[in-house]
Amino acid sequence: MSHSEMPKNEMPQTLDGWRQRAADLTFESRAFINDVFVPAASGETFETVNPATGEVLAKVASCDAADADVAVSHARAAFEGGAWSRLAPGKRKRVLLRLADLMETHKAELALLDTLDMGKPIQSALGDMAGAIGCFRYQAECIDKLYGEVAPTGEEALALVLREPLGVVASIVPWNFPLMMTAWKVAPALAAGNSVILKPSEKSPLSALRLAQLAQEAGVPRGVFQVLPGFGHTVGKALALSMDVDCLAFTGSTGVGKQLMQYAGESNLKRLYLECGGKSPNIVFADCKNLDRVAKHAAAAIFHNQGEVCIAGSRLLVENSIRETFIDKVVACAETMQPGDPLDPDSFMGAMVDETQYRRVLEFIRQGQEEGARLRAGGQALDGPGLFITPTVFDGVTPEMAIGREEIFGPVLSVFGFDCEEEAVRLANDSVYGLAAGLWSQDIDRIMRVTRRLESGQVFVNNWAGGDQTVPFGGVKQSGNGRDKSHHSLQEYSELKSVWVSLSS
Ligand code: NAD
Repeated sequence: MSHSEMPKNEMPQTLDGWRQRAADLTFESRAFINDVFVPAASGETFETVNPATGEVLAKVASCDAADADVAVSHARAAFEGGAWSRLAPGKRKRVLLRLADLMETHKAELALLDTLDMGKPIQSALGDMAGAIGCFRYQAECIDKLYGEVAPTGEEALALVLREPLGVVASIVPWNFPLMMTAWKVAPALAAGNSVILKPSEKSPLSALRLAQLAQEAGVPRGVFQVLPGFGHTVGKALALSMDVDCLAFTGSTGVGKQLMQYAGESNLKRLYLECGGKSPNIVFADCKNLDRVAKHAAAAIFHNQGEVCIAGSRLLVENSIRETFIDKVVACAETMQPGDPLDPDSFMGAMVDETQYRRVLEFIRQGQEEGARLRAGGQALDGPGLFITPTVFDGVTPEMAIGREEIFGPVLSVFGFDCEEEAVRLANDSVYGLAAGLWSQDIDRIMRVTRRLESGQVFVNNWAGGDQTVPFGGVKQSGNGRDKSHHSLQEYSELKSVWVSLSS
């Protein structure tokens, strides 16, 4: 069978197959407002570019405050109309399960959109799709299994604690896992009965717009799910300042998270729920049995998705007695994780998302060398047109160095040495962030001692990035608040209402 004869939803298996599929793709590039795909009110567009080739993929509607106002009023009307907000949870569940099924059918296409838009390897994008689909299924299944409460009052009263949707939720998401981050926000917010306005990153808007088509096909009612592509300082800011948005659910950088807090305070004190940056420590104790396996995971923890991962294990803390040997092993693994064509199923790393991020990462590498860290691997940019950087390992990093402190969001690993448990914990917690931490040891007493002392939203013991839909995900300190995934995330998108019924008369 030639590629052009391949059924539309079949999964390509080779680089050529994916290239052909990419060539056949068409993109929806208009905003989705009140069940209709429309240009931005201003008529403005922005280009979305494939960072692996420099090719312009589409000119996308550049929404601004005018579009935000219109979408918010439709979202409010849809919420008050009750077609979704007052629909029985079991019926909302059926629509969301239908949406998940449609996503499954179009999984290859959705993965391809993210790969083309932001440069991640296709295998990794397919993994994201499994996560996104799983999230819709899990949240859909949760919603008709959550009960309210009857409070333990005296006989003179009946007190009910009800859970209600919030109203209009705006979700602002980043580009590093475009559809998966979208699912983590949108699935629970919709399941809980809210009207949702999604603002995807200007660097990766295409899969969100395809999701809007699928939501429409699945039967999500008019105005309940809308997508406004555009820039943060225009449409994002307008949503954050809106007096009629009840909740802002954000995933992105800590700097923007802080701005959003200000916008909420300046406007209607909307509920804010922030998933922000990280500089996560991965601690390796000398008692580990299989250092080869640990090294492989430590390298993947930073080089997966080109290091553009909020929970990247970007600070590797290694007990000094094994440090030299262990770094050699990590460097050997890094050599096998070179960047390649994101459409090649064998590529481990892809392209950096855009020129700005690419230059930023290279500047950190330059600064690391200047500040005296020892470059042990990588540090190079590959020849263009794609934006590729080799997996980079620095040893001898200290907390004072920029590469030891700041979120680089690229394939750069900073290795620190430590002599004792106390020092490891101190180094690990010496960060404004608290998103993830890992530790590798065979000693269960040590594992539990250190786990309890780590200032982190999640701790990975003898793995990195383990988890599924059943466990919450989120940070402490300047990594944010609130939790994605699991039934806990439904609570972020609903509010308690207490009802006291007097029975004495
Ligand atoms: P970013 O903060 O630059 O942008 C995130 C989103 O916010 C984008 O949609 C952007 O358009 C929008 N935005 C920017 N300025 C805005 C403003 N003034 N008002 C309203 N919206 C605005 O982040 P990014 O570069 O897209 O993503 C990378 C960051 O995301 C990293 O810091 C990473 O750690 C973080 N992240 C966190 C998690 C998590 O779960 N904690 C997950 C993924 C990414």
